[in-house]
Amino acid sequence: MLFVIGCVIASFVNATLYRLDNNYNWKDLILNRSHCEKCKHVLSWWELIPIIGYLILKGRCRKCKERISIYYPLSELFLGISFLLFGLYSAPLHAWIALIFLFSLSYYDYIYRAIPQMIVHLFLIFALIYFCGFNLNLPSLIAAAVVLIMIGILVYFLEKSFGLGDILLLVGLGLLSKYNEFLVLFWVGIFTAIVFCVFYSIIKKKKFLKIKIPMLPFFTFSYVIAVVFGSVIFDFLRETFHLAI
Ligand SMILES: [Zn+2]
Repeated sequence: MLFVIGCVIASFVNATLYRLDNNYNWKDLILNRSHCEKCKHVLSWWELIPIIGYLILKGRCRKCKERISIYYPLSELFLGISFLLFGLYSAPLHAWIALIFLFSLSYYDYIYRAIPQMIVHLFLIFALIYFCGFNLNLPSLIAAAVVLIMIGILVYFLEKSFGLGDILLLVGLGLLSKYNEFLVLFWVGIFTAIVFCVFYSIIKKKKFLKIKIPMLPFFTFSYVIAVVFGSVIFDFLRETFHLAI
């Protein structure tokens, strides 16, 4: 059930962001039936079912055969699974809210390679309020500072695509998370992004360092991993390598 709710919310968020971006007015934002952007074919109810609709249509519009971005079914599947995991491991309320923020920002990052300042600022305010109210602790602050330094080093050596938005967002996540969760979140995100780049560079035969990828989808993925399995992964690594933290 949570899986289905996740898929539906993902589908709804994607559609709403798309409409906001394309200057729909407020009435159309809610009342307009979804349609193909190219041929204006209004989608029937079964074409709107998350994931399944995409599979039946084989990723193309029924009328004009225009390709539908793979981002939609994948992101729906992702949020569905995330909701299911968050439910099973009874994730705290602030994690659900942060997930929706990250999910929305991923959409922008994926499509425009840029994230809107306003949403990042809203997220930072939310993180600060939460931090002052419920999570006031030194390790989280230190973790946020350490990560800023690590990003500095990464940007210096790899010239990777870390924008100011990404950095502010990580600071916000640092304020929301326990420090062990945050370290897992950061490194899982970086690691999956690098693995993705390696495969991408092999398949597309591009130079590894020339690839620019949106970081937000990777951090959204690693955030879910960190919230659900963060402590387990952290303890496992600490015991394996006998770390003194
Ligand atoms: Zn069409």
